[in-house]
Amino acid sequence: MPYVTGAQAREPELARLTGLPFDDADDVIRAAVDEASVPALLMSMVHMTGDLGILDELPGPYMLIAMDLQGAMSEPDKQAVRERAFEVIRDYRDRGCPPPFIPDEHQLKIMLNVMTAGAVTGEFIDYIAADLRVTDVDQNGPALASTAEQRAGFPVAVIGCGESGLLAGIKLKEAGIPFTIIEKRSGAGGTWLANRYPGCRVDIASQYYTYSFEPTDHWEHHYATQPEILRYLNEVMERYQIADHVRFDTEVIGAVWDEATSTWQVKIRSADDPEGIAETLTARGLICAVGQFSNPVMPNIEGAKSFNGPSFHTADWDASVDLAGKRVAVIGAGASGFQLVPAIADTAAHVDVYQRTAQWMAPNIHYHAAVGSGARWATRHLPYYGRWLRFVSWWPIADALNEQITIDPDWDNGGLSVSAANQTIREVFVAWMQAFTADEELLAKVTPTHPPMGKRTLQDNGTWLTTLQRDDVDLVTDGIAEITADGVTDIGGLHRPADVLVWATGFDVNHQLGPIDVRGLNGTGLNQAWGDAAYAYLGVTVSDFPNFYCMFGPGTNAVNGASLIYNSECQMRYVLGCIDLVLTSGAASAMPNAQVCADYDRRSQARLKTMVYSHPAVTSSYFKNSAGELPTLFAWRIVDYWKWTHRPNPDDYELKMPRQQQKSRPEGQPASRTPER
Ligand SMILES: Cc1cc2nc3c(=O)[nH]c(=O)nc-3n(C[C@H](O)[C@H](O)[C@H](O)COP(=O)(O)OP(=O)(O)OC[C@H]3O[C@@H](n4cnc5c(N)ncnc54)[C@H](O)[C@@H]3O)c2cc1C
Repeated sequence: MPYVTGAQAREPELARLTGLPFDDADDVIRAAVDEASVPALLMSMVHMTGDLGILDELPGPYMLIAMDLQGAMSEPDKQAVRERAFEVIRDYRDRGCPPPFIPDEHQLKIMLNVMTAGAVTGEFIDYIAADLRVTDVDQNGPALASTAEQRAGFPVAVIGCGESGLLAGIKLKEAGIPFTIIEKRSGAGGTWLANRYPGCRVDIASQYYTYSFEPTDHWEHHYATQPEILRYLNEVMERYQIADHVRFDTEVIGAVWDEATSTWQVKIRSADDPEGIAETLTARGLICAVGQFSNPVMPNIEGAKSFNGPSFHTADWDASVDLAGKRVAVIGAGASGFQLVPAIADTAAHVDVYQRTAQWMAPNIHYHAAVGSGARWATRHLPYYGRWLRFVSWWPIADALNEQITIDPDWDNGGLSVSAANQTIREVFVAWMQAFTADEELLAKVTPTHPPMGKRTLQDNGTWLTTLQRDDVDLVTDGIAEITADGVTDIGGLHRPADVLVWATGFDVNHQLGPIDVRGLNGTGLNQAWGDAAYAYLGVTVSDFPNFYCMFGPGTNAVNGASLIYNSECQMRYVLGCIDLVLTSGAASAMPNAQVCADYDRRSQARLKTMVYSHPAVTSSYFKNSAGELPTLFAWRIVDYWKWTHRPNPDDYELKMPRQQQKSRPEGQPASRTPER
């Protein structure tokens, strides 16, 4: 992989990511050094000096831990690095901030070896180098071989303007492909527009939940709040001038593949006028970016409709309802309830939390913490510091977790954990809970009976148990028998009055298309083909659905420790490759070979069976479909996905020539890596 030069790192677009020159005073530098992640600082010093010897002279990280950012280094070790960094940064400033040193592959390996205490092996180097932006391979993937004229003749319709649809727009625009995004809501942001409940935020580090081509110095919190993320997505939309391509307040009702013209006929209707006349858009490609969390679930609890007060889902928060002085019943203590309850406890008179299943939470002292101005300055200015900070944030929770989520078939402790490594996590998580309460009864209620990481792991800085121990908050673990006009009755017959009912009951992830009626070859319905077991090749393409691409599609929800933004960049890179494949081969359309698609699905499901999510002790997981399978979950390592989505392998695709003449591989297109079979 070609490495960039220091001068290239200074070109405006890359310099936004790799560090902008500065001439700030010593006190600014001191503040930055004091607040910085020491491991990232250590690497930045190499970029400032070109001196790898620094890594021998100074102490390094002991072990990267996502929730720490400091590599588990001791205070004296951190201090030693900070003192030296202060001198190095001042000297760098005084030298006029020359272009940064860029390591070659060998030198990068040395840096990574120090950074991860030897955990990074050779297979990860290209993947990490790309994200660090020391190579010129970013998530755009290889250069497109089609001509600008060809691309201009390939209009694409995109359903949805969440982070995926927005990304699709940015990349299509850069490629010169005309497109229209259709979004049923009034604004962009998808998940982050819908979920406006108090306390809503990401539960992976903001550094990773960021487009790789956008800088990370703007985050106000290590784990960004919903308003911050929504603002971020809108700013990105503005920067890339995508809004003019979006038809807001417009819903896609369905899309039909027209074999005669090799186009998608996309039926849309104004969301304000649901009974109105539908309009049809014509496109050669269709990107379905509707997300997996678009369809809120309202459980069928007896009497729910009889409730007299305000009642709404967390994904449809009613901000007009003032909770002050009210008794609030929160149904559900999963990811949303867990964030919501501590955030409303101070306002409401009383909160009852109805918990069906206890959730695992990872200790995370930064979970609510703000990012200081010194740390933000470091991210903006110190050469490659921001890229390494991102690495510190993602490496420990992405591929490094493979062992902890894999079932050891010889491990059997009644489903409490799935392996020795997983058991260690259990012990850490339990110890964390015990640090916040000695109340055995409460501990019994909040300690899950399923293995850790079996569902999405929540992040906690102690707030959950502190909140549950308030006099004005009750955790109810008896099931709900009935909802009445004025409250909730549990199966023990105890009635608790409520003024407001909040449904923190999650989403129907196994029917991601919702009511959209997509018809492919010979009128095949996608919803019918999928049922509650959706599948797509690499989570992106589907046999019998030509020129149809999913973003955050089936089998792509990396439920523990990955950024769905990162994965959607992999998907979009692959989509561009698919479009390029059609155009360079002079074909009208391409779809994955049915066997390839089915085989990938079979292998994904087989691999998921080896992972903690499938363990029988993981009950009532909304990821499981009626057959107990996990069609939405991601089965692989991110590094593999990154490699597989580099560009499509033409051998995997059936190309339809305009005159219905099939061709297996376009000339001049080399076969490339595909998932192992
Ligand atoms: C509370 C919450 C917290 C989360 N936290 C994290 C996290 O920490 N890390 C992480 O990686 N992921 C997280 N996720 C997952 C999150 O959904 C993804 O990260 C990401 O936002 C998905 O973006 P998307 O664009 O693919 O889908 P969405 O954001 O769901 O956007 C889909 C868009 O499609 C639109 N749409 C749907 N149907 C139609 C139609 N028929 N016509 C027109 N428009 C339509 C919707 O209105 C929506 O705007 C979280 C999800 C939730 C709900």
